[in-house]
Amino acid sequence: MYFPKLEHLRKETKVIFTAVEKLDEWLALKPQMSTDYLNPLDFSYQASINEKIALNLFSICCNEKIFRKYEATPLLKVRYIVSCPNCHQPYQTFYSLEEIPREYIYCNDDCDGFYPLRHPERIEIYFELLERPVIQAKIPDIFDIPSTVPPLTADVAGLMEYGLWGDLIQDV
Ligand SMILES: [Zn+2]
Repeated sequence: MYFPKLEHLRKETKVIFTAVEKLDEWLALKPQMSTDYLNPLDFSYQASINEKIALNLFSICCNEKIFRKYEATPLLKVRYIVSCPNCHQPYQTFYSLEEIPREYIYCNDDCDGFYPLRHPERIEIYFELLERPVIQAKIPDIFDIPSTVPPLTADVAGLMEYGLWGDLIQDV
């Protein structure tokens, strides 16, 4: 797994583990600049996973209680971005549903106010990835050429320098 703590979810009976494996890969492939605003519906669409299962899985990955059982911390953090239903400007970001104000709030001097919870269409949900993937790529070898490697174009002097000339002429 790119995110080893996801292995713990194997023990959770309500979790479909093939979906977890797809999420693991999907998260690992994400460019780092996009991991603060992950959209579970993008995952659902790109990995061909049912929307409900995708949303449920993202919320499980934020669940402190579940990860605490395995002495781990959550992999994702949820954020709710509330915007104003009148002027459509972003109002504020909240990190749990409980934080979103129940009362009437004022937007700004040029705008009226609103009850945030009466406008679920103005609450966008994103998830932030809290960890980097563990990537043991085979590819970096080509970026890390040791200095003793033979020259890439063969010439006799180079082959002699690297002790390869003898091997070559024995084969001729
Ligand atoms: Zn407004």
